Amino acid sequence: MSITELDSRYVAGTYKRFPVEIVSGKGSEVFDAAGRRYIDLGSGIAVTSFGHGDSLWKQAVIDQLDQVQHTSNLYYTSPCARLAEMLCQKTGMKKVFFSNSGAEANECAIKAARKWAAEKHGPDCHLIVTMNNSFHGRTLTTLSATGQAHYHELYQPLTPGFVSVDAGDLDALRALADSGRVAGVLLECIQGEGGVVPLPAEYIRDVAKLAREKDFLLMVDEVQTGNGRTGELYAWMHYGIHPDVFSTAKGLAGGLPLGATLLGERVENVFGFGDHGSTFGGNPVCCAAALSVLSRLDEPFLAQVRAKEKLIRGLLTDAPGIEGITGLGLMLGIKTVKPAGEVVSACLEKGVLCLTAKDKVRLLPALNIPDGLLMEAAAVIREAARI
Ligand SMILES: *Cc1c(COP(=O)(O)O)cnc(C)c1O
Repeated sequence: MSITELDSRYVAGTYKRFPVEIVSGKGSEVFDAAGRRYIDLGSGIAVTSFGHGDSLWKQAVIDQLDQVQHTSNLYYTSPCARLAEMLCQKTGMKKVFFSNSGAEANECAIKAARKWAAEKHGPDCHLIVTMNNSFHGRTLTTLSATGQAHYHELYQPLTPGFVSVDAGDLDALRALADSGRVAGVLLECIQGEGGVVPLPAEYIRDVAKLAREKDFLLMVDEVQTGNGRTGELYAWMHYGIHPDVFSTAKGLAGGLPLGATLLGERVENVFGFGDHGSTFGGNPVCCAAALSVLSRLDEPFLAQVRAKEKLIRGLLTDAPGIEGITGLGLMLGIKTVKPAGEVVSACLEKGVLCLTAKDKVRLLPALNIPDGLLMEAAAVIREAARI
């Protein structure tokens, strides 16, 4: 049987895969079973921050593998402690809980808000408000947090205690807050799966203010937008706000599974012994990988991410068949006249891997993708989008 046939027979049918078997990758290029080369503008959905097989990243992983690969959280390890320190020093947050995915990082944020609010305001104060069109993960609780009804249909009953509002509608949020039952708000500064839709900057700042005024938590989902993706270390840094809690995952460890929930001053001591846990969370190999990624995301590097955004925008804006570009840094959504899926298929045939998000062609290339590859790929996208 071919790999395609084996996969279809034995892997649960939750993924509609592209007809490509990837066998290797180097930098921002990947190669299929027939040796065909593709330019990778998806990075495994914003995961391989420095591309495939980056030598510094690989060495950090190998060095840790030579030491010890897993210990459980019953013991101390250096990569876990040092990564927590680095995350806090770079963000002004106070404590970190490590897990293995974005959904788990959000679960932890939700648990932190529930516990904090119950202790401070009583058990009726337990609502988590999210935005319509948001995406927060696939576990039952993060699905409940996700403000898109079509994700909910198959899995009733959902976890109670979630309400979603329209991003931009501060009155709706204020009305909920006035009930005294809101523990926290969870939002993506740029909705990724929702179609690369930035929230209005003014709204983000207003929510931050309201959180102080009404004493609920401001929680930001940085699973996709985090770790340099938008041209700042974390997307909330664009807005002059400081969240009480934020979650991240995807690009954090550059291709190994790691989630992190960062707790600010108001909640730094919300968890005590036994209140939460994860067997794999804070795994030393994953943390060593993340230390390698994070230590390279300094200001000169982030300036290069912003320069690459400029380059892409320059190459694609006003091209025939392209109606507009949304997003920030190297998280961009391209609205095409043709259906996005058609454009992405045409790009694949020409050797360029892109993603979709709702009605957009979504680009999430490695943060260090060479300009030459971006120019080559942009020419293919222009051609594919042409009407
Ligand atoms: C991908 C994503 C998640 C879920 O992350 P997993 O690692 O797939 O659990 C949550 N929130 C946002 C904003 C995401 O983009």
